[in-house]
Amino acid sequence: MGPVKIVIAGGGISGLATAYHLSQYLPESPLPFQITLLEARPSFGGVIRTLRQGDFLAELGPDSFMADKDAVFELCSALNLGHELTGIVPGSRNIYVCENGQFYPFPQGFHLMVPANLMSLAQTSLLSWPGKLRAAMDLLIPARKGETDESIASFVRRRFGGEVLRRIVQPLLGSIYGADLNELSMRALLPRFVEMEKRCGSVIRAMRAGTKKKKEAGNQGASAQMQQYGMFVTLRSGMETLCRKLRDASTHVDFQAGAEVTEIRPGPPWKILLKGGRMVEADLLCAALPAFQAAPLLKGAAENLGQKLKNIGSKSMIVVNLGYERTAVPQLPAGSGFVGSSGDGVEILGGSFSNAKFEGRAAEDKVLMRFFIGRKACDGLLDEDDAKIVESLRRKLALLLDVRAAPLFSDVRRYKNQMPHYKVGHLQTLAEIRQEAAPFETLFLTGNCFTGAGVTECASQAKQTAGKIKEMLNRISRDREAKSGHAVA
Ligand SMILES: Cc1cc2nc3c(=O)[nH]c(=O)nc-3n(C[C@H](O)[C@H](O)[C@H](O)COP(=O)(O)OP(=O)(O)OC[C@H]3O[C@@H](n4cnc5c(N)ncnc54)[C@H](O)[C@@H]3O)c2cc1C
Repeated sequence: MGPVKIVIAGGGISGLATAYHLSQYLPESPLPFQITLLEARPSFGGVIRTLRQGDFLAELGPDSFMADKDAVFELCSALNLGHELTGIVPGSRNIYVCENGQFYPFPQGFHLMVPANLMSLAQTSLLSWPGKLRAAMDLLIPARKGETDESIASFVRRRFGGEVLRRIVQPLLGSIYGADLNELSMRALLPRFVEMEKRCGSVIRAMRAGTKKKKEAGNQGASAQMQQYGMFVTLRSGMETLCRKLRDASTHVDFQAGAEVTEIRPGPPWKILLKGGRMVEADLLCAALPAFQAAPLLKGAAENLGQKLKNIGSKSMIVVNLGYERTAVPQLPAGSGFVGSSGDGVEILGGSFSNAKFEGRAAEDKVLMRFFIGRKACDGLLDEDDAKIVESLRRKLALLLDVRAAPLFSDVRRYKNQMPHYKVGHLQTLAEIRQEAAPFETLFLTGNCFTGAGVTECASQAKQTAGKIKEMLNRISRDREAKSGHAVA
């Protein structure tokens, strides 16, 4: 029998990290196997893309990953990228909430919606006194009963009140997920806070107890990394370096760019049809695709599974990088950026002052900024040309930041349906997907639509997926041995 054929569809971080972990297993595998990675686009990395142009180093997709989990740190260490890691410039770690054109500092000592102590709550200029008192009532409100999911908006309103939701949590999380928090699942996206409420009633009290415990245990693993880099970490030469290094280190993988999967016929062997008419066969198939792209491909092989994947839904976002002469930009608020400006014209979910945020993003005499346009404004602009999008944004920037000069450099990226939408009930949808996928033992699903959309979560899930594929290889090996044993007997 020949080597086991493993095909991974999708060459974003999820597919690349799965391929990397599997390729590391090759020397010790009881069975020979070959890995093919099929990517529709001409290059790998998915939404992770870095553009070096003249005096600018612009991130076109994610600009960082979160330091709260180990997965990306582990990859960077294995790929000798430790020297590349860097956090937000220490003096720039604060951000602003922009409301009606005014920039308010994000409250110090807040962990998302939770004030670390009553002093940080008292001191913030973002909340009115009635808003602060309402937030402090978290200390008295009993825990919600039952295990049903609720929206993030409902949780925050219940525990901390409408003002914390409107002025802190919606701007912050809305800019990350590009969605209305009334729609997003608390249990899927912020399970930590659900667990805190369950454990202590008050989330503020639970947070304080957790911080104390962490201090007593000393800084280890993820907390040590957060201590070193802060919450957000990037690579000096850009996020794309991680993808390039993953590819370089996966020496036994057959990487095929420009290989768009158009249909998947059930297996094993799975028959994977590519644009142009070519067909690839797989004993084990891993779909590392966004749900909205995996759904129609899998529908022929597993109709219900395709339908369930479609239920996950997605949102769109436009990312615009603008580079300027430093002299053309008035003094920007000191920090790494802002979240949450809405109003007439372009709706900016957030903006990063990229060269203040991370070192090496622009030459000394230049300024680089990037902006996220989402929700309704994004839907209205997705099909417009780049010039129109930049013009709309410039009108808004003139009002917001008093930036009136024409940019030296601009780049517009449209992420149509690329943001998975973790709706209320997402965990139930996941359970249904698992149930529908269970009969297909040689099919593996991974990607940003399941258990976390951040780069860190995708990398972590890819490692688990590679682990499941290894288990399957071991099982196939045992089955083959048993069969050959019978044959000999
Ligand atoms: C604009 C933006 C900003 C973000 N910012 C951050 C951030 O700062 N920090 C963070 O942690 N996360 C961020 N995220 C989220 C995170 O970057 C993504 O969730 C993650 O990179 C997704 O990786 P993936 O491999 O699962 O999917 P993708 O990157 O979408 O990769 C999927 C790949 O599959 C390919 N493909 C699709 N269909 C086919 C087909 N039919 N045949 C073959 N190939 C196919 C695609 O071309 C693509 O390369 C951001 C996301 C976006 C869109």
